[in-house]
Amino acid sequence: MKQTQTQAEPIPFYRRVDEALKDPMLQKAVTIAQDRLRNGRIQAGEILGNVDEWRKRAEEIRRHTIENLDSYLEQLAANVQKAGGKVHFASDGDEAVSIIKTIAQEKQARSVVKSKSMVTEEIGLNEALEEMNIDVAETDLGEYIIQLAGEKPSHIIAPAIHKTREQVAELFSEKGKKRLSSETPELTAFAREQLRNKFINADIGISGCNFAVAESGSVVLVSNEGNARMTTTLPKTHIAVMGMERIAPTWRDLDVLLSMLVRSATGQKISVYVTALTGPRRAEDADGPEEFHLVVLDNGRSDILGTKYQDVLHCIRCGACLNVCPVYRHIGGHAYGGVYSGPIGAVLSPLLDGYDQWGELPYASSLCGACTEACPVRIPLHDLLIEHRQDMVNQGDAPMGERLLMKAYGFSTSRPGLYEKALKWGYRAAGFISDGDTIKKGPGPLKGWTDHRDFPRPASQSFREWWQKEKKGDS
Ligand code: SF4
Repeated sequence: MKQTQTQAEPIPFYRRVDEALKDPMLQKAVTIAQDRLRNGRIQAGEILGNVDEWRKRAEEIRRHTIENLDSYLEQLAANVQKAGGKVHFASDGDEAVSIIKTIAQEKQARSVVKSKSMVTEEIGLNEALEEMNIDVAETDLGEYIIQLAGEKPSHIIAPAIHKTREQVAELFSEKGKKRLSSETPELTAFAREQLRNKFINADIGISGCNFAVAESGSVVLVSNEGNARMTTTLPKTHIAVMGMERIAPTWRDLDVLLSMLVRSATGQKISVYVTALTGPRRAEDADGPEEFHLVVLDNGRSDILGTKYQDVLHCIRCGACLNVCPVYRHIGGHAYGGVYSGPIGAVLSPLLDGYDQWGELPYASSLCGACTEACPVRIPLHDLLIEHRQDMVNQGDAPMGERLLMKAYGFSTSRPGLYEKALKWGYRAAGFISDGDTIKKGPGPLKGWTDHRDFPRPASQSFREWWQKEKKGDS
């Protein structure tokens, strides 16, 4: 299978997890941010009132859109062209990069400014442009931080969520060659000063696309920093890159989706800026680019259409599932290894690149269902994780030890006498490694659990035995 995400980590998954678990600064930063974002979402939902009705409506819109994606894509493309823009359909990341590189060559571009875009991370755009000696500047504050740190985003909407303010101050002080405090105004002033000239001198602005409105051919961006507006209006050429599923059929639909996106992402009623761009600058416009290109990326998405995983294409990339996930809380985003982390990443990455690359991710979940409950478009994330696990087992991808264990379990549970005996043997065997009623240092696969929490010693009698005795009144 062709690899579509370019952030493949050569370090094995379990080592990445181990490293993350040993990083207290990471856990501190993620916990603070996760709590803030999760509480914000809950409060925003309470203010909204009937949040479940809104979620149902948002789900209906997304389902209808994805079921009719071909016709909405046609409508979108026709309306972008009517407004004077150019539309490019890219079947994979290489094609999308090649389209953007060709535009950059035609424009003899030397510098590019970007606003936050996960889809350009997915296709490795920055690296490709830098190979052409083009200066690429990320202008979203979080993206700017991680670009300076030479890292990748660890969260869909808060790319630098894994960094504390102190770490950011350290990074900016090094870049500015002067000591900065960890006060937010000082740090943001520094970033603003650094980025201003980049905006003014950029040949091309590249943005993502939160939603593209099919009925008008408009690209809609939400941001809190104003950088998206500068990126899309100051340079002479604007290129927007979107995953093919990011369509809202109408402005009325967009109203519902935007409400859910912003509330679920940051707990705001509306983001500070909502920017809608329709084609390049018109004669009567005060500003705007002379050229507008929309790159519509497939990159494995159409393979998901019509499968039992289709609901994952409803995702509006709000990050709410990351903000409630107990696994994400402990390991942060980088441990997942792909561009998309947390529950959505654990479902999406194996679909885009296969189980060879991302087979561990569906197991990076306690299946508590918090992600499904938080999702504003009601994607059954934990059900899809189970589907992945089932598919891997059916394909023979489960580890040998696990397969043998399950076979032995199936064999013994279908023979009650043997099962009773196995429980007794288990109880006695556990006596060698347990401390009273608790196993603190488990062997083999159990070690992964007992390294971080206790495991109860199996009970000395089964429930059936206890029940029989209870009935006789001698338990
Ligand atoms: S799966 Fe749902 S909660 Fe997670 S990012 Fe997508 S829309 Fe948000």
